Amino acid sequence: FDQLRATDPDIAAVVVDELERLRGGLQLIASENFTSPAVLAALGSTLSNKYAEGYPGRRYYGGCQVVDRAEEIGIARARELFGAEHANLQPHSGTQANFAVYAALLTPGDTVLAMSLPHGGHLTHGSRVNFSGRWFDVVAYGVREDTELIDYDQVRELALQHRPKMIICGATAYPRRIDFAAFRSIADEVGAWLMVDAAHFIGLVAGGALPSPVPHADVVSFTTHKVLRGPRGGMILCREELAARIDKAVFPFSQGGPLMHAVAAKAVALKEAATPEYATYAHQVIANAQTLAEGLAAEGVRPVAGGTDTHLTLLDLRELGVTGRDAEARCDAAGITLNKNAIPYDPQPPAISSGIRVGTPAVTTQGMREGEMKEIAGLIARAVRDPSAAADVSAAVSVLVNRHPAYPR
Ligand code: PLP
Repeated sequence: FDQLRATDPDIAAVVVDELERLRGGLQLIASENFTSPAVLAALGSTLSNKYAEGYPGRRYYGGCQVVDRAEEIGIARARELFGAEHANLQPHSGTQANFAVYAALLTPGDTVLAMSLPHGGHLTHGSRVNFSGRWFDVVAYGVREDTELIDYDQVRELALQHRPKMIICGATAYPRRIDFAAFRSIADEVGAWLMVDAAHFIGLVAGGALPSPVPHADVVSFTTHKVLRGPRGGMILCREELAARIDKAVFPFSQGGPLMHAVAAKAVALKEAATPEYATYAHQVIANAQTLAEGLAAEGVRPVAGGTDTHLTLLDLRELGVTGRDAEARCDAAGITLNKNAIPYDPQPPAISSGIRVGTPAVTTQGMREGEMKEIAGLIARAVRDPSAAADVSAAVSVLVNRHPAYPR
């Protein structure tokens, strides 16, 4: 770091300020976490220098014998941890992973059945502003208005009506368990591929805190930087018979040289995720999210779908008369980082929205538990209701984060 400071004090200051921002507030964005120093060390290594187009033992560059080991170790760890026949660690991001899955299994114009964005789906599940919505004919299913749970009857009806070539489940803002077996049976009924986008919850699967989609899906894609606590990036798991199609769809179809420092960092994260400590962590992430949701409900902030089975909760702020956009800004001013989020059947446009999303991966990494979650629920409710309480809430946040520091000095 001294070298960075000497060479580029501007960027060194950004790095320090961001670390202080992380340490100084509560990080409740459901898709973020604090990677370990070991993961960061691999990310900041000279592996970044190496061109390694291709796959281990089949590269288009010389000198890959060392980096090959990182990718081989990572693939073996991913297969073992998730019980998967094949793993590809090269996608640069979750979006790249999903792009590769579409490329491997579909041709433009094919029909895809996926969760609607306003009900919790991801951009890559058919948004018009994304390749998925532009190049594919996407039919969207959603959640029921009364239960706010995925409407499996609707999924089946739409599948029978539209005969999609691929069905996607897995979401960005769905707090409950997904019935992978139900999706499998619908996919089988209409002869569709089943892709599970496990970006949000794969870390909970790794820790044995949620059931695995791997036995049910043809392909499982995910990001490595959420609950899983790895570097930013993507990964794909599939059955052996699809391995060559998936690998070719990543390289050479949609990517060039892999980021070998990121591949190595993914391998480190997979090793960490296979430990008993990580399993305890994954269970605690859910226990914390449930306590936080209950605490917020007790404060009059309604959890969508009645609560959570995962690391995240979606909150409906309509009773409070505060929009998601205002709640996000008020929490920000009080040292609490979270994001506004559309709730199902939201009367507000997405840029304003009626909800916020909170997640517990980062605060759980800091060692916070149920007691802190109860306190945080009270702080969020206060910050959202009363902008003049920002300084008081911020002081309480400082006490909490100093007791459980992120990246202890
Ligand atoms: N899939 C889901 C369900 C996600 O929630 C996300 C990111 O939030 C992605 C894919 C895309 O990941 P990335 O931001 O790495 O492209």
